[in-house]
This record gives sequence, C-alpha cells and structure tokens, in this order.
Amino acid sequence: MLAKIRTLALRGIDGFDVSAEVDIAAGLPAYAVVGLPDAAVKESKDRVIAAVRNSGFDFPSKRITVNLSPAELKKSGTHFDLPIALGVLAASGGIEKHALEKLESLVFIGELALDGSLRPVAGVLPMLVSLKKTAVKTVIVPAGNAHEAAASGIECLHAENLKEAAAYVNGTCPLKACSADTAPRAENCPGDLSEVKNQVFAKRALEIAAAGFHNVIMVGPPGSGKSMLARRFGGLLPELSFEEKLETTKIYSASGLVKGSRLISERPFREPHHTISDAALIGGGSNPRPGEVSLAHNGVLFLDEFAEFSRPAIEALREPLEAWKVTVSRVKETVVYPARFLLIAAMNPCPCGYLGHPTKGCACTPLQVHKYRGKISGPVLDRIDLHIQLSAIQYADWEAIPKGESSRTIAERVLKAINIQCERFAVSKTRANAFMGVSEIREYCCVPEGASSVLEMAMNKLGFSARSLDKILKISRTIADLEGVAEIKREHIIEAVQYRLLDRASELSGLR
Ligand SMILES: [Zn+2]
Repeated sequence: MLAKIRTLALRGIDGFDVSAEVDIAAGLPAYAVVGLPDAAVKESKDRVIAAVRNSGFDFPSKRITVNLSPAELKKSGTHFDLPIALGVLAASGGIEKHALEKLESLVFIGELALDGSLRPVAGVLPMLVSLKKTAVKTVIVPAGNAHEAAASGIECLHAENLKEAAAYVNGTCPLKACSADTAPRAENCPGDLSEVKNQVFAKRALEIAAAGFHNVIMVGPPGSGKSMLARRFGGLLPELSFEEKLETTKIYSASGLVKGSRLISERPFREPHHTISDAALIGGGSNPRPGEVSLAHNGVLFLDEFAEFSRPAIEALREPLEAWKVTVSRVKETVVYPARFLLIAAMNPCPCGYLGHPTKGCACTPLQVHKYRGKISGPVLDRIDLHIQLSAIQYADWEAIPKGESSRTIAERVLKAINIQCERFAVSKTRANAFMGVSEIREYCCVPEGASSVLEMAMNKLGFSARSLDKILKISRTIADLEGVAEIKREHIIEAVQYRLLDRASELSGLR
C-alpha cells in the first residue's frame, strides 16, 4: 500500500514542498530511501523503526520504499523522520481509513528520538514562510519549535511525540496551537559610544561608515579601543525593517540558532575568531550552512586581528564584499546565501603591535611589517573605504577627557544621511554612497573649486592612486550628506583624505 505525507525541505534559506511517499509491498523485509537523501536522511531508517515500535505500533516486516519527491532536489536534515513514520503508519494501518483524507491537508516536520518523542529541528521558519506561497495548510511541528513556527504566521500545531501526532490524525487527541513566545526578551546592551573616551577621530570615521555603508579598517596598538568601538557600532545603524528582520531570522533558523519565536529584531554583530576556517566564515560544508558572513547579513561583521586570519579566509571575503551573497556549489546543488554586511576589520600596526607607540618600542623589522600588512590583499583592501589609525590611550588623557556624544545623537545624523541617499538612489540599484559606480561618482561627487589642489597633493605627496581618489570622493559625499548639504565642499575632501591611511605609499611599506 502507498501513502503520501506532505512535508518541507530547505535549500539555502528558502523552503520547498516535499512529498514523502511510503510504499509497503510484500517481500523480504527491506527499507530503502530514495530521492537524493543525504546521510542524515538515510539514517532516519533506524530512528523511524525504533520510534514506531516504541510508540506502541507494529513495524511491518515487509519491503518498504520511501521516496522523497521531487526526486531531483537534494534533501538534507533530520526533519523527514516524522512524515516518513506517519507514512509507514498510514500504509500499514496505524492511521485509520477515515483519517487518510485529513492526512492530505496536513504538513509534518520533526525529528524522532528512538522513544518516539519529537525533537526540534533547524530551518522551521524559512520552510514555513515558503509554504505560504503555495497553499495554506495546517503544519504539525515538534513542541520545541512551537515558538519559532508561530512567528511564520501560518496555522501550526505542536506535538510532543509520534503517538500524539498519529492520535491527532486519527481524531482521538487534539493538538495545541503554536503561540508566540511572551517571555521577556533579554536586553542586548552593547554599550554607548560615549563610553569610549578619546578616539574622536575613530568615532567620526564610524559615523561616516554607518551613514554611507562604508567598510572600515582600524589600525592601532593593543588596548587602543578597537573592539570597544566596533562593538558599539551597531548603535549607530537604523532599526531593521520587517523584511530585514524576516531575512535575518531565516538565516539564523537555517543554522539552527533561533531560540524564541519572535523575529530577530536587532542588527546582527558577528565577531568570529581569527582561527576560523574559510568554510565557516563564508558558509558551506557537505550539507551547506550559512557562514559568519551570512549570519552578519543586515548587520556588522567584526574581524579583529584581521592580518591573523588565514589567507584563504581573507580571500574568500571577496565574493560577499563584491556581490553581497555567497554561492556554495556542490555536485548536486548550488545554494546562495545573502551576505550584505558592513565589515569592520581591526589590526595591529605591526606583528608586535607597538609600531608608532609613544612609550613602547617596536621590535619588528621593516620587512616583517611589510609582510604583515601584505596579508591583506589589494582586492580585499579595495572594498574597504575607510582606513583609520588609532593611537594608544594614555591614562592621564583618559582621566581628563569628558564623555563624547551619545550613540543616539550620532545615529540621528546617520539616519538623516541615509534618507538623503534613499532619495538620491531612488531609481537606481545603488543602496548607499559606498556602492556608487564610476558614472555615479562623476554625477554626484563634483570636486568643488579650490579642492583640486588637495587631491593633487594627495596623489603627488602621499602617493595616492587614481582609484583611491574615487574612494575619497565617495567618503566626501557621505560627509556632505551628514552635514545635509547638496554640494561637496573643500573641507569635506580634506577630511576624507585622512581616512585613507593605507593608501599612503609610506604606510604600505611600513617605513614611516
Ligand atoms: Zn612591531
């Protein structure tokens, strides 16, 4: 006998409908799963057999074939256990005849433990959100996913175990509806920029970064406050829109990182350690999963000790920095994850960290410094508009300096500048000043009178390339937007030149 149970599967961060077909035929006992299952799906066999038996049903000693259709798309994950087990029950009499019609209008997701209880699975939200587009059905999920399922807005019920789910189908036991998580959310308080004393220059650079979506690299000795600044950067960015919240939550759900029911409403801040592999940073693996760059989507990716990251990891950043997405190709499938993040990189000025320090001496040779800085390749550095140098904070200075502006005050200016850009780029695909192409730079970034001499000086005396002049113009545009003026002024250009530290010929060689 044949039974069909509806379920869902995940590809990247998008779901698609799957039908679990279970056929039970006479013959020697056998169990096969077809339809491009991965190892976890194949292993469902042992879980399903044990769960069915331990839930008080007979497991048929016959020839069982499970087909996950559409057969051409790869299936991965453990959430097919429940639909397969119900398919076995439906095909072997465990589900009563009168209930078979009802079964067709239901969708099941869940991993089974050997005792038949249901375990929560990853990716419930993105799978449910994609179901919306096809047809509205009742979905049965594990109790552990109930809150997350409620966030999808689809009618969902939750079950504790296989027995409960089967009893619901047979009409002998109601299931509870999934409801939103009402527990108070722990406030994530990263701190305020006013707490970072001194570093006025760096704070201003971060304001410009937030306003124009410019990536930043901070170069400074240990203890100069690089991490403190980066962790407070999120406070300058505007709130997430509903679409951004949904997109972000889908990525976290696909990674199994969603705990409550509500959509993620804060901008992500990811701070992977420099020993991370390129696969973990970018995403991938044999069962592709989003990497840190995608977990930072719509937020900030902070890479401290940037020069200590492996070369492949640094190079792998090129695709997301260029295209805002990551493409993971496998033999049977290609998965695309969104990765639109703002990069804040931080590094020491030299391997020992004390080059240019007022009191501590640097023990590095010029060659060592050159090699250290050379780890950040040109194409990656090219995607980073703002280069800033931080100096060590002396305790005496620290005591005397008053608190600076609060994050909220700066964020208000940032929001105004972002709104100006929304109007400017209303009809183009460009989203912020940082992404202007050459023609847009020519259109929106006119060099003001009297400023050509500044640019000329930058090229001749500081050794800037023509390419870095375009960056200076983009930064100047953002500075002008922060001020709310239509035309770039000479002082905007003078300020912008200061944010291109690593373009200076003397800086690149490390021989200051
Ligand atoms: Zn050194």
